[in-house]
Amino acid sequence: MKRKQFDDFYFVKDGKIHTLDEVQDRYEKNNGDISYFQGRMRCPECKEAILSFTRKTSSRREYLSKEPSSSHLDNCSYKNDYASKKQIIEYVETMNDNQIQDKLKSALNMLMNRDTSTDININSQEQRDNPLIIKSSNVGNSIQRTIPRKSLSMWLDKEYEGKVFIFYGKVKLKVEPFKEFFRLLIYTKKRDKTWGYKTKVFRIRFKDKIDENKEYDIAILGYLDFSYGSTPEIKLVKYNSLLYR
Ligand SMILES: [Zn+2]
Repeated sequence: MKRKQFDDFYFVKDGKIHTLDEVQDRYEKNNGDISYFQGRMRCPECKEAILSFTRKTSSRREYLSKEPSSSHLDNCSYKNDYASKKQIIEYVETMNDNQIQDKLKSALNMLMNRDTSTDININSQEQRDNPLIIKSSNVGNSIQRTIPRKSLSMWLDKEYEGKVFIFYGKVKLKVEPFKEFFRLLIYTKKRDKTWGYKTKVFRIRFKDKIDENKEYDIAILGYLDFSYGSTPEIKLVKYNSLLYR
């Protein structure tokens, strides 16, 4: 199985979540010297497992992965294998609309409000119900699987096509009418701090009420569709598997 990759990490030096981009920036500006980060990057969720950086080559992007000698804490969602599209869809089908929204809300709390050490306590009672972990069945046995996450600031590459992720991030939004339908356009902050178009979600006949100047936190349970060119759209697993605030 391919090693799990991390879009961001917990930085021991300042107790905050940082992104892979920042490490890549430093790598480029300091001729490959990332000693500032190396050894101090931890799993963004359990803050225990140590991560290391692998530079990009001509054939693949840079990435962060767990050092083989270190481990995640027991309740860290990165411990499990990732759920397949089929397993996630089966799971979502057992939930009603409110349950889906609640799940996205918990996931958003976990994925976006992580800069203080108090809000995610992996050992607390609350955290035992990890919003990214789902129960699935395998020949009658209940097994745990993890919904993979994908930061919307990262590349949405063709290799992810068709796989279900929980996409998340800080975004700006805009509604695009199309005949009697609506699309929700998603913009993310680029490395030069300007906002750029990233992707869109087909909302059928639902018209979102958006303040275009506002920054939203968003969580979307869906998969990438490249049918309309090289810039992918996100297709929702269910019509309401999207939450912003
Ligand atoms: Zn972990």
